[in-house]
Amino acid sequence: MSANASAQPQLLSRLNERSVMRVLQDHGPCSRADVSRRMNTSAPTVSKAVASLLRAGLLEEFDVKENGRGRPAKQLRLASETAQVLGLVIDAAECRIVVAGMDGVLRGEGEVSFETPKTYDRFLREAVHHARRFINSVDVTTLGLGISVPGLLDYRKEQGLLSPNVPMTNGHSPSRDLSERLGINCVVLQETHALCLAERRYGAAQKLNDFGMLDISTGLGLGIISSGRLLTGHSGLAGEIGHIPIEENGRLCGCGARGCLETVASDSALAWLVSERLGRRIEIGEIVAAVGRGELSVQSELDLVCKRLAFALATVINLFNPATLFVYGRLFELEDDLFARVCNEARRRSLGPSFADCELVRARGSKRQGAIAGIIEYLTDSLVPDFPVAAAGIFQDNASLRENGMGRR
Ligand SMILES: [Zn+2]
Repeated sequence: MSANASAQPQLLSRLNERSVMRVLQDHGPCSRADVSRRMNTSAPTVSKAVASLLRAGLLEEFDVKENGRGRPAKQLRLASETAQVLGLVIDAAECRIVVAGMDGVLRGEGEVSFETPKTYDRFLREAVHHARRFINSVDVTTLGLGISVPGLLDYRKEQGLLSPNVPMTNGHSPSRDLSERLGINCVVLQETHALCLAERRYGAAQKLNDFGMLDISTGLGLGIISSGRLLTGHSGLAGEIGHIPIEENGRLCGCGARGCLETVASDSALAWLVSERLGRRIEIGEIVAAVGRGELSVQSELDLVCKRLAFALATVINLFNPATLFVYGRLFELEDDLFARVCNEARRRSLGPSFADCELVRARGSKRQGAIAGIIEYLTDSLVPDFPVAAAGIFQDNASLRENGMGRR
């Protein structure tokens, strides 16, 4: 970065603001003195950062009476009563919009879903309609929207490249288009990356720097966090394990090839096999419910899918040596010991030392939580840019956004 005398104090202020956000994310509500102690930073510096974050609407203050008596003491927390963020999950069958505070806690009452439209224009109209209802319905500031999308995503252009299961997003930028129409910050995440972020922020991966996330829900996607960083490849397209060819003349995949791994080892692969037998389209949710009621048996299809799934797990374990591998999918709901059985089969197929080094865990997070985590990370991290070269532009953009309250009422 070229030495710019006036940029340095500003950068320091922003770093301090992000540190305050991190303290509150990691420790929950604190007083200014607590924040100052945890940051090992002087009280005036912390007060300045807090004042800026309060103005931006990212934090809020509330009163706490110690032992229920005496003068109330001011505490700080991530804005959850005065502000909200939205999450939009685009998936093959349906799209879902959820709402949360800056603390990431999803508000149960604030959730709406609509059938995934066939065309992008229709999708934009419906997403804008539903998001506006959230933005206008309550007297709080909407700080932004995080969007989870399936398929290949170009992060630099914020554009969908190829989505085998939701092709209407190909060549389009939901984050730019929705930001323009809604007038709020929007950020887009590939769905497996959203799951990684959800698990890292709110799930079982909070202290983990090396883990994998195998998403078997719609297609078959893989996210790898190595030494704390997401493995992206050259342009963010890494992790598409679902399109490894495994059956020469297998079923046609959404990507245009035949016999891809995701056509035989995912929730949707199971749904497809069962649909073929029944002669009608049935989704995984419906299968889980019908099997639960004892109205349907899917044993032979399930055995087949689980064998392939064990192959996928062994491949990831051998290739990436993750300390923990999370698996996200619904088919494990079909039988109590199914996950353990798949893990056992994966053990047979993996290299011994690699398997012994890896803990297999069912993911607790969700794409909804991931979309919310995405916008919260964006709002927190965009306080300080990762790349000095982008500093000038991002600082200016942020300054104007923050003066405008980073959203609208
Ligand atoms: Zn494919």
